[in-house]
This record gives sequence, C-alpha cells and structure tokens, in this order.
Amino acid sequence: MKLRICHLYPLSMNIYGDRGNLISLSRRCEWRGIECEIVQVGIGQPVDFTGCEIAFIGGGQDRQQLAVSDDLLNTEKGDDLRAAVGDGLVVLSICGGYQLLGEHFLAGDGRKIAGIGLFDAWTEAGARRLIGDIVIEADLDGVSTTMVGFENHSGRTYLGPGVRPLGKVIRGFGNNGQDGTEGAIYRNAFGCYMHGSLLPKNPAFADHLIRLALLRRGYGEPLTPLDDRLEDAARTTVVRRALAVGNR
Ligand code: GLN
Repeated sequence: MKLRICHLYPLSMNIYGDRGNLISLSRRCEWRGIECEIVQVGIGQPVDFTGCEIAFIGGGQDRQQLAVSDDLLNTEKGDDLRAAVGDGLVVLSICGGYQLLGEHFLAGDGRKIAGIGLFDAWTEAGARRLIGDIVIEADLDGVSTTMVGFENHSGRTYLGPGVRPLGKVIRGFGNNGQDGTEGAIYRNAFGCYMHGSLLPKNPAFADHLIRLALLRRGYGEPLTPLDDRLEDAARTTVVRRALAVGNR
C-alpha cells in the first residue's frame, strides 16, 4: 500500500512550520509499513490529483495568497482540485490555504483575493489579528476529540450551509472569534486556522486523514496503533496553558 501526498505551493504557503504536517503524515504511514510519497507542486507546475490520496496546502501571507489564487484560478488546478474532492480526495488546508479554498478573502488593503469555492465559506480581514493558542472540540466520525494549535490571522471566516465546522472553539478565536466555530469540512476536505504544526500534536486527526486516504483506495482495515505518549503530552501541555490563560 502506498499513499501519495500532493504538497501544494510549498514555497509560497508555508508559515509557522505547516510543513510539519507532512512529516507527521509520512512518518505515521512509514511506522505502519505504508509507503508514502510527497509530490511538491508550485506555481506554474502541473498536477494530477487523480493519482494522489491527500493534498495539503499551508498558510501564507496575503501577497503569496494573491499569487497562488492566480495560479489556482488561471490554470485547471482549482477546477481539478474541486473535482478530485468530489471523487474522495482528502485535503488538509491551513489558514491562508483554507481561505483560498473558500469563496474569497477580502484582504485588509481592500483587495479581494478569489478562492476556488470548494468550501461554502468566505473571509474578510478584521482590524485586529487573532493570535494565540487555540483549543477546539472536534467530532471526528462521531468521536469527540480535543485538538490544539496556534492561530495568527487577520481573516474572519464565515461558513455557509454547504459546510460544517471542524469543531467548537474552547479557547482562542477560530473562524471569526464570534460564532464559536473553527474550520470547515466538506466531504474529505478540511480547512482550519490551526498552525503549530497541527498534526504532530493531534495524532488522532493525522490518523483520521490517513484512514480516509486509505479508504479512497478501498482499504478499510483499522490502523495499527502507535505509541503516542509524547504527542499526547505535548497536546496536554498546550491545553493546560491555553485554559490557564483564558480567552482574550
Ligand atoms: N494572510 C491571511 C490572514 O492574515 C492568512 C494568514 C496565515 O496563513 N497565517 O488572515
């Protein structure tokens, strides 16, 4: 069994160590004897999503988002990505990448950066950046899971009826700091504001993505359990720290 992960825009969209999510996915596969290949796709480079099980896009600054938006919308990439999600592709998108998979991001300077409309969601920059540790309660296929991350964004994202949130904010701001939601889920595509990197500290979510990716290829066996004591300790530390600080 082999999983192929498409890393979208590794040079333009990689802040706060979002690349760590790929390291986490590939290690957790390798530790279980699942081969994992990461294919990097930058601006101007073609991609065949039908040969991938997972696509990943990290966060970025507004300027990079503009260039990536052009590339997604002025080539077939945006349409191909939407079609592949319709066909079961697993997607993880963080912050600026998440915003680009929604309808649009209205940046602080008034520019409207177009998204591909995979998520029924839109984003508008606010005056104050939303920064700090974030703790959410997510529902991963009926299993309630506490997840932690670090957020730093000007954008406020609002969800339409075509998506459901990834989770409920316990501490931090999440999508917009108002409605208590964080992230979005559409089919097997996930978006969220959680940097950190996210997956190393939230192995249950990493395994959820791996399971969905294997299912895409018809492999439904349970994953071999791994020793996650270190990961769990890291997550517990962040949860304790965030709960002690309280909401800002
Ligand atoms: N530029 C976007 C914002 O500030 C995304 C930032 C990020 O990816 N951390 O909302």
